[in-house]
Amino acid sequence: MQEDHFKCKLTTWDYIYDLCLDVADQVKDSGYGPDVIVALARGGWFPGRVLCDLLGLDDLESLKIEHYVGTARTGEDPHIRYPVAPDAVEGKDVLVVDDITDTGKSLSWAVDHIEEEHSPGRVDTAVLQFLESSTASPGYVGEVLDEWAWIIYPWNFIEDMVDLVGRVLGDEPLDMGGVRRELRERFELDGLWFEVAQPNRMEEVMEEAERRGVATRGGGGWLRA
Ligand code: AMP
Repeated sequence: MQEDHFKCKLTTWDYIYDLCLDVADQVKDSGYGPDVIVALARGGWFPGRVLCDLLGLDDLESLKIEHYVGTARTGEDPHIRYPVAPDAVEGKDVLVVDDITDTGKSLSWAVDHIEEEHSPGRVDTAVLQFLESSTASPGYVGEVLDEWAWIIYPWNFIEDMVDLVGRVLGDEPLDMGGVRRELRERFELDGLWFEVAQPNRMEEVMEEAERRGVATRGGGGWLRA
């Protein structure tokens, strides 16, 4: 997705935690008892850590696969950026965890990588959210999303918002009302829900956009830097 109009959904910590609880229940009900969680960096880290807690696991490993280069922008085919530690999964039953599966490439690449390089025991997969576009079929799914949207997770709220703000700013200054209007019209970010989910954070977002060299102040508002 490269367009500058697409649906975004803002989530909250509570909502995400509930999805973690659902996934943990499914794993427990299935009778699967993984020895180690491999969390895909970076989106799988929070769910991976919480699932360790809920499932009673000490071992949490990280695997970084890259192919997204910004909010809803895909880059190259995924590649392994940082592999799992060589002995972390050998002979062990593994649960690979990610936040969302969209194309499904990260999840299937992760499983292939672990199975081909690390001689694990059983390997199963869990995601908090699943999009029908996915070619991967995770073993455990917190929720199926019925339409495509870019999910703004609490752990990358600032990162995503700065990216979106960068897309709405241009050569004409926009004040805060203008920025909010553009975010609503182009990314379906409802202002009311925004204030419920992330109260009073727009100033901080704009400050960060400035600090990160995305926005600059001028003409009574903000311009693209
Ligand atoms: P995938 O396309 O399944 O390989 O997705 C790889 C990673 O990109 C996911 O783990 C997310 O961190 C991120 N991602 C992909 N699609 C979305 C989306 N619709 N909303 C939020 N994050 C996404």
